[in-house]
Amino acid sequence: MSQMRGAPYRDALDADGQLLYEGHDVPRSDEHPFPKLVDQSRFSVRGRPTENGKFADWTDRFLRGEVPPARFHVYEKLRSGIWTFRGPFLLKGYRYEQVDGRRVFRFQLAAIDEIGNDGEITEVVPLEELQSRQIPTSVKQEVYKRDKGRCVLCGSRDQLHFDHDLPFSKGGASATPANVRLLCARHNLSKGAKIE
Ligand SMILES: [Zn+2]
Repeated sequence: MSQMRGAPYRDALDADGQLLYEGHDVPRSDEHPFPKLVDQSRFSVRGRPTENGKFADWTDRFLRGEVPPARFHVYEKLRSGIWTFRGPFLLKGYRYEQVDGRRVFRFQLAAIDEIGNDGEITEVVPLEELQSRQIPTSVKQEVYKRDKGRCVLCGSRDQLHFDHDLPFSKGGASATPANVRLLCARHNLSKGAKIE
């Protein structure tokens, strides 16, 4: 299963530090020329689970105590090709509900801080702290200029992310240009958590 990227931020964080992530629409096709008008689907036309289906299946199994919770790194798209890390989240539930005349998946993600060595969730981050994780625009502008719009590891200009050098738990919470750097998607994602 791939990581969630580009979380749609009309689904804002709620007061409990939760993020609602809307599922994927069906692919545009002759049968479905207007994906926004039809129900989101758990299965592809070939009967295979879609991304929605994989997330939902995993969550069902987690809720039955069969698997650990799925973890995701969430990125916000600032503008084309530029992403910013919003922190690790835990997929804890979902709804399949009626919205604007069709059914959509709403995955419920809760912000988490650290995953301990034993795989236990050690902390759920309150909203105030989560908001303090956001890198100020002035810092982003300075970092982008300093790093010349390239990944500091390989020089790529493709799908850049603002990366906090230090984990927030180790004092990286105050975002200054000194602890923020630009990374390409490949180098940034290589740090992330995945479920298969
Ligand atoms: Zn790179």
